[in-house]
Amino acid sequence: MARPFNFSAGPAALPEEVLRQAAEEMLDWHGAGMSVMEMSHRGKEFTSIAAQAEADLRELLAVPDNYKILFMQGGAIAENAIIPMNLLDDRKTADYVVTGTWSAKSFKEAQKYCAPHLAAGSPTGPYLAVPKFTTEPADAVSGAPTFQLSADPAYLFICTNETIDGVEFHELPDLAALGRPDLPLVADMSSHIMSRPIDVSRYGLIFGGAQKNIGPAGLTLVIVRDDLLDRALPFCPSAFEFKTVAANGSMYNTPPTYGIYIAGLVFQWLKRQGGLAVIEARNIAKAELLYGCLDASEFYTTRVEKPFRSRMNVPFFLKDESLNEAFLAGAKDAGLLQLKGHKSVGGMRASIYNAMPLEGVQALVGYLKEFERKHG
Ligand SMILES: *Cc1c(COP(=O)(O)O)cnc(C)c1O
Repeated sequence: MARPFNFSAGPAALPEEVLRQAAEEMLDWHGAGMSVMEMSHRGKEFTSIAAQAEADLRELLAVPDNYKILFMQGGAIAENAIIPMNLLDDRKTADYVVTGTWSAKSFKEAQKYCAPHLAAGSPTGPYLAVPKFTTEPADAVSGAPTFQLSADPAYLFICTNETIDGVEFHELPDLAALGRPDLPLVADMSSHIMSRPIDVSRYGLIFGGAQKNIGPAGLTLVIVRDDLLDRALPFCPSAFEFKTVAANGSMYNTPPTYGIYIAGLVFQWLKRQGGLAVIEARNIAKAELLYGCLDASEFYTTRVEKPFRSRMNVPFFLKDESLNEAFLAGAKDAGLLQLKGHKSVGGMRASIYNAMPLEGVQALVGYLKEFERKHG
């Protein structure tokens, strides 16, 4: 029987092929006589799994040689503390762009370790766009620029896809044009990493929790440029110190072994699809289909400004919110799961990560039209 389509924002759907392969290999991985969960992380079986996962990730994202790939734990929220502890060095500040709920949290957490500077955006929202990357006066009344870097920040932090608000960066700030070519750009990519090709060399550090687009919760990816490994504060816990984790090949302590294994299967699946350019084209087609349907309707609305709409997370609203419960119940009956919006935003949210096939979005669009026809 076909499985329903799962629109969860995270932990999110995984490719069915990957789940089937994991099921087949559950009791006996490649003749090892044990499950991946039961293996020593230092044994030759598991070290080959981890090395392959890392090599495939490096190939898919074209990660340059002067970047380390780390498999860590604690999720993206822990990275909000781990990053300042590792990158501040003797600097007193770091700059943050706040474009949604997640970067607002990152900005707040950094206040435990330094006096972070709000370079652009707002700690309270509403989150409907990415600010312009310009130091020109943007506000005719106050003359305030939209984007203002502090004098000597340790890094500039952005969240390139705001999972809750549905705001995505489709362009990066040009740090050279802003007069800071050497400022390390740090990006929380939890909810769109692997959804499109990226130029890793434009970043100092990229991180993301696995449970949106890569694998099960419990694994966090960090991709960090070598020259940033020497800046940790003395009290940074060893297990969270990038330099220590890197020097030990992500095995300073026991890594999330099963999560790394599943992530590795997802990377192999991505390679079989044709890599990230093919995946990106598919993601664009899915997003265009869904936004197109919402835009064509008077019954549904969206709020995020069009150039900043996320391809991964699509928040939308029924104009008549008294129909929300009926909408969700009908969706579930139609095999469309977890469409309820985040409680801070309300309404609905369809997360259409890599693992969501076009057929899933077609089914959702069919249901949207059908529900409107019945209740509009
Ligand atoms: C889900 C998410 C987080 C939080 O991740 P945890 O694993 O719960 O720590 C942070 N940032 C973004 C962009 C996310 O999507």
